[in-house]
Amino acid sequence: MSVRVVARIRPLLEKEHDKDVIVRADSVEHGKPFTMVKIPSPKNEAEEFSFAFNGVYDQSATQEQLFTAEVAPHIKALFQGLDVTLFAYGVTGTGKTHTMRGGLKLAERGVIPRLLSNVFRRGKKIAKDTNGETSVDVALSYYEIYNDKVFDLLEPPEKRTPSGLPLREKDGKTVVVGLSERACEDLKDFERLYIESNMNRVTAATKLNAHSSRSHAILRVKVTQTTGDVVRESTASAIDLAGSEDNRRTENGKERLVESAAINKSLFVLSQCIDAISRGDKRVPYRESKMTRILSLGQNSGITVMILNLAPLRSYHLDTLSSLNVSSRAKRIEVREIENEVVYKQGPRAASANLGSLQGSAARQ
Ligand code: ADP
Ligand code: MG
Repeated sequence: MSVRVVARIRPLLEKEHDKDVIVRADSVEHGKPFTMVKIPSPKNEAEEFSFAFNGVYDQSATQEQLFTAEVAPHIKALFQGLDVTLFAYGVTGTGKTHTMRGGLKLAERGVIPRLLSNVFRRGKKIAKDTNGETSVDVALSYYEIYNDKVFDLLEPPEKRTPSGLPLREKDGKTVVVGLSERACEDLKDFERLYIESNMNRVTAATKLNAHSSRSHAILRVKVTQTTGDVVRESTASAIDLAGSEDNRRTENGKERLVESAAINKSLFVLSQCIDAISRGDKRVPYRESKMTRILSLGQNSGITVMILNLAPLRSYHLDTLSSLNVSSRAKRIEVREIENEVVYKQGPRAASANLGSLQGSAARQ
């Protein structure tokens, strides 16, 4: 299966005007769903560029619509043992945090709380349907990558070591060494933890005289299903990437140079990885930034959804074009879906083939 890449155009905010709108959603044929984003050429406004996506959501799309169409279908797969990665890419101010986190009101909730809510519901259903024979545990990790260093957001900023947490490869996956994990029973539990750790994020950023839009925030939801001594583990990761704007253009201050370089570098490496994979290159430069190591786009074997957030305004013109260029190329990435192997609590690692019936799923190759 390929990475699914969708674009979402945010509505106008207060003090933004219709006359400044230059980005629009379109369909290949009248009446078909939107799959194209159109934007004028910056050199010649009469000329229009088109970018194709797997799906395009315009100003009127609600949080619920986006979730139902792009995330909900993968929750079953998550419980079948596939890892799911959802990430928001785009310029600062285009709606990444709105899409991932959203507002406090029910209707305004973003992908993350909806994902958790669905995971808890499905977990409870599985426990009930199996008469408690299968138990489902949910644990959270939350961390950020800032200046190419990894910091645990579940820990207070005072506990940060300046060099951050190291990464290591384990079973073909990148893991953050020493990352904390908290068990989460229900949505209330999650919300408490999430609000608290988002405060850690802002406090840490303020101390560094920075802004949280300059770091990548990664929420990792680990789902563990235990039936007797058989354990099946999978993770859903939701990533709110740092703003993709060209910081060389927007930041002149010397103090921001290191930070800008790190953001530009990790997002640049991301775009290079996307290009390399879509060209079919053997060498993909994953290892050149921590963010791309963690994301391991196209290498991880699960399901990946990339959401490109867009502001429809002329003031974002060049940055919008560059983010459209990067993400529309990501569509060509092929990913093999492989379920995580189930393991026995004691004894040898089990082959998954004869355990496919656990959740009524056949082991796929
Ligand atoms: P980013 O995280 O990409 O910097 P934000 O999520 O903070 O952007 O969004 C910028 C502003 O636009 C915020 O005030 C946010 O509430 C608003 N916004 C973004 N997307 C939407 C949307 N789909 N509907 C309503 N408001 C939105
Ligand atoms: Mg943000």
